[in-house]
Amino acid sequence: MTATILLIGGGHAHVAVLADWITNGLPSGTRAVLLTPEPRLRYSGMVPGWIAGQHARDDGVVDLAALAQRAGTQLVLDKCAAIDPDTLVVTTAQGERIAFDIASIDTGGEGRGAALLGDDPRLIDVRPIGAFVDRLAALPALARVVVAGGGAGGVELAFALANRADAPSRVVLTAGEGGLLPGFAPAVQRRVARALARQGIAVHHADAQIAGGKIMAGEVSLEPADAIIAALGSAAPPWARASGLAVDADGFISVSARQQSPSHPHIFAAGDVAARIDRPLPHSGVHAVFAGPVLAANLRSALAGERPRAAYQPRWNSLYLMNTGDGSAIASYGPLAAEGAFVLRLKHWIDKRWIAKYAALAKSA
Ligand SMILES: Cc1cc2nc3c(=O)[nH]c(=O)nc-3n(C[C@H](O)[C@H](O)[C@H](O)COP(=O)(O)OP(=O)(O)OC[C@H]3O[C@@H](n4cnc5c(N)ncnc54)[C@H](O)[C@@H]3O)c2cc1C
Repeated sequence: MTATILLIGGGHAHVAVLADWITNGLPSGTRAVLLTPEPRLRYSGMVPGWIAGQHARDDGVVDLAALAQRAGTQLVLDKCAAIDPDTLVVTTAQGERIAFDIASIDTGGEGRGAALLGDDPRLIDVRPIGAFVDRLAALPALARVVVAGGGAGGVELAFALANRADAPSRVVLTAGEGGLLPGFAPAVQRRVARALARQGIAVHHADAQIAGGKIMAGEVSLEPADAIIAALGSAAPPWARASGLAVDADGFISVSARQQSPSHPHIFAAGDVAARIDRPLPHSGVHAVFAGPVLAANLRSALAGERPRAAYQPRWNSLYLMNTGDGSAIASYGPLAAEGAFVLRLKHWIDKRWIAKYAALAKSA
C-alpha cells in the first residue's frame, strides 16, 4: 500500500526534508507531495544584503521546483487554506482537496503590519518575504522610509535601506515600547544603537501606529514617509487554529521536540508556524533550518510505521549576524557581541554556503 506524505509549505525545514529524499531516496511505498504557492524559497537572511547591493536579487533563492523534482515529489503550486487532521484532507486556496496519511507543515507565519499599525497604501509588510522583495524592487528611490519593528529583521532592514544601492533612504526606526532588540544581550543592543546613530538612523522607543493617514511613534509624527516597512514578527495562519490541531495561545501549531503534534501524531510542523510545548523558542530562521534534519529523520520513521525518535535540542545560544549595510556586521552570541567587516564576511560565507548546498542538490543527477 502507498502512503501519501504531504509537505505543506516550502520553508527552510522542508528544504532539508527534500534534501534527505534526494540523498537517501524517498522511503519505499511513499508518494510525496509538496504544496506551496511559489516554486522558489527566498532566504530572508540575504535580503538586507540584496537591498544594500551586496548580493544580486536572485542570489538568495532556493529552487524548490528543482528540489521537488529530484526528490520524486509532486509539486502543487497553491496554498493550504484548511487542514482537517482527522479526515486527513487539506483544502487549498483554489479549492483542490489533497488527501494524506502524514502531513508536515512549514509555512512560516503571516505578516501582521496592517493588523498592528492600520491600513495605508504606503505600508509594505516584510511577510511574505518574496512579495516584499518584488514590491521593493519595483519602487523608485525612497527619500524617507519608516521601519516599524525593533527586532533583528527591522534593524537589518533599517540599515539596508539607509545603504540602499544607488538610492539610500533617510530611515526612521520605530522599535516599539520593548526597545531595540528585545531578548538580545545589552552589549549587542549598545553596539546596534551606536551603529544606528552613526548612520543617522533615528530610533523611537514607542509603538508605531497609522492614525488619520499619518505614521506615528506614540504621539510623535514620523511624516513625511514614502514607505512604511512593517517588520513586526509573524502571526499564526488562521487555518491553523481552525484545524482542531493543538495550538499555543497565539495560534501557532504546538509541537514536541520531535516536531510532532501532541494532539495528532501523524502531523508534524517546524519553523515559524510551530511552537514548542517543552520550551519557548524564538521564531527565527536558525531554528527552522536546524529543525529540518530532525524533521526529515522523524518523517522517515513515521512513514516506516516506527516511533519518531530524533529530537531537536537547540543550543542555548544562537549566533545572529546583523548586516549593518555599510560593509560591516554585528554578531550576537549569548552575552557576547562583536562587530566589523570580518563579521560580514562570516555572514556572507554562512549564507552562501547554505544556498550553495541546495543549489548543488537541485542540479544533481
Ligand atoms: C528581513 C529579515 C531578515 C531575517 N534574517 C534572519 C536571519 O539572518 N537569521 C534568522 O535566523 N532569521 C532571520 N529572519 C527570520 C526568518 O525569515 C524566519 O524565521 C524564517 O524565514 C522562518 O522560516 P520558515 O521555514 O518557518 O518559513 P518561511 O521561510 O516563511 O517559508 C514558508 C514557506 O511556506 C510557503 N507558504 C506560506 N503560506 C503557505 C500556505 N498557506 N500553504 C502552503 N505554503 C505556504 C511560503 O511561500 C514559503 O515557501 C529574518 C526575517 C526578515 C523579515
